[in-house]
Amino acid sequence: MNIIVQKYGGSSVGTTEKIKRVAEEIKKSKEESNEIVVIVSAMGDTTDELLELAGAVTNKPDSRELDMLLNTGEQVSIALLTMALQDLGCKAVSLTGAQLHLETTSSHQKARIKDIDLSRIKKELNQGRIVVVAGFQGVTDDEEYTTLGRGGSDTSAVALAAKLDARCEIYTDVEGIYTCDPRLLPGAKKLNHTSYEELIEMASLGAEVIHPRAVELAQKYQVPLYIAESCSKAEGTIINGNIDYLEASLVTGIAVNRDDIQITLRDLEADSYILAEVFNSLAEAEINVDMISQLLDKSGRMNLSFTIPEMDIEKARELIAFYRKDWGVSDWWIRSEVVKVSVVGPGMRTQPGVAAKVFKLLAQSEIPILMVTTSEIKISWLVPAGYEEEAVKVIGYNFGLTLEKD
Ligand code: ADP
Ligand code: ASP
Ligand code: MG
Repeated sequence: MNIIVQKYGGSSVGTTEKIKRVAEEIKKSKEESNEIVVIVSAMGDTTDELLELAGAVTNKPDSRELDMLLNTGEQVSIALLTMALQDLGCKAVSLTGAQLHLETTSSHQKARIKDIDLSRIKKELNQGRIVVVAGFQGVTDDEEYTTLGRGGSDTSAVALAAKLDARCEIYTDVEGIYTCDPRLLPGAKKLNHTSYEELIEMASLGAEVIHPRAVELAQKYQVPLYIAESCSKAEGTIINGNIDYLEASLVTGIAVNRDDIQITLRDLEADSYILAEVFNSLAEAEINVDMISQLLDKSGRMNLSFTIPEMDIEKARELIAFYRKDWGVSDWWIRSEVVKVSVVGPGMRTQPGVAAKVFKLLAQSEIPILMVTTSEIKISWLVPAGYEEEAVKVIGYNFGLTLEKD
């Protein structure tokens, strides 16, 4: 028998009605003589609501206790989905990350999976049960509860599929992967197929349709992925293989990330060791830096700007206040109303001109540019918040990423 791992996101299990519909779908897959492992996220906006509850009690929630709280979200949906399956006459059992021994590192809210003990899942499958697993959560070797980062249920699903040597179907609230978030770019095209590499770029640049670490894992263990709309007959997107550069399109898609903030430090001492110290201190505080720009001014001092996730703003503030004198910083500020718009395209590797064309389009639309970074197959522009929709539209329409012009 084939094992299939199916993941249903928060939007697909947002109400009890939806949970019942999802249960019908799972029952159908099971009847096609498959062994089914289902991963579910918390219902609808539950995780946001739990975070709000924590915020109402304290400004600085303890990260262990936050994970204790966030773990409850997925526990509700696995229990309800399992009851709905049982109500349809299916044999099913729900399991939390801890019951599964989905072992992770101990960094709360951004734990990484170390291993998964398959013995319990195998035992349940052998007894003919559908196994319903809580996504997003894990446990450390000393029994502490953890979570994998927002959107992490996708990663739970792919990790389980990798361990079980199964294919992984991710069901969500859109028909598949589009050239850009269809909510941002009306008329965005659905992709029938894409490569792991392109999707890794899109996801890590902000296309929240899938967690970037999930696609990285899928590529590493060659897990075939299928992303589609839950309870719909529409064809989804198949993700496998690498980019075929001969066939590669110039631009595959656009991604938008609203989760970062920009920090600027002025008048640093122009010394590479100072730069190394700045980034080392950020790394030690587990703050991921994304875009970086550094400029020497005429007087030989250095100005430095970089972006970091908004969730780390307080840690960064404390760190800079502590070190600013050592680094010679005369002035510094945080700009939080920023958005990163990125263009992903394997064809950029061999064909020049994408950056030039986008700069022109942004200039014609009078969109201010705060920072730019490039890599082999992507270019990112940081723009003030509020300009992203216009940027996405002019780029999308001019690179053929939409079905037709508005
Ligand atoms: P789930 O609850 O299933 O995990 P998410 O909200 O995390 O769903 O992801 C689905 C959403 O991702 C879609 O509703 C869509 O707005 C957004 N999205 C962003 N970029 C893309 C893209 N390139 N293709 C499809 N959807 C995208
Ligand atoms: N419930 C978690 C979140 O909202 C995990 C997930 O949905 O993948 O981030
Ligand atoms: Mg998601």
